[in-house]
Amino acid sequence: MIIFGTGSSTIAPQKLDKGNCPHCNTQNNMWVQGYKKYVHVFWIPFFPIGKKVYTVCGHCKGAFEKREIQNQELLENFEDFKRSHIKTPWYHFIGLIILAFAILFIMAMPYLAK
Ligand SMILES: [Zn+2]
Repeated sequence: MIIFGTGSSTIAPQKLDKGNCPHCNTQNNMWVQGYKKYVHVFWIPFFPIGKKVYTVCGHCKGAFEKREIQNQELLENFEDFKRSHIKTPWYHFIGLIILAFAILFIMAMPYLAK
């Protein structure tokens, strides 16, 4: 029986404002996509363990990770985009939230019983 493991949720592709493709040099047709990974226990997401985000060219379909981007404009746009648009959803922490409440409850028990 599988009690815990990892899961992932995909980040829907979104278009970047600016940037040229490092491969075919097409202008302003770069997309950002990727996925987020989390640890689950009994299929409840517990905590995030990272994400993979990369850019994809809308023309040649080439995918580029951060370290493969030499173009400064594209790199800056990509970093800005990640900072402002790609956040870890709260429900990736739901297991931890449940655990925190359980611990609080157990700690409060002696007081509640009085
Ligand atoms: Zn391209």
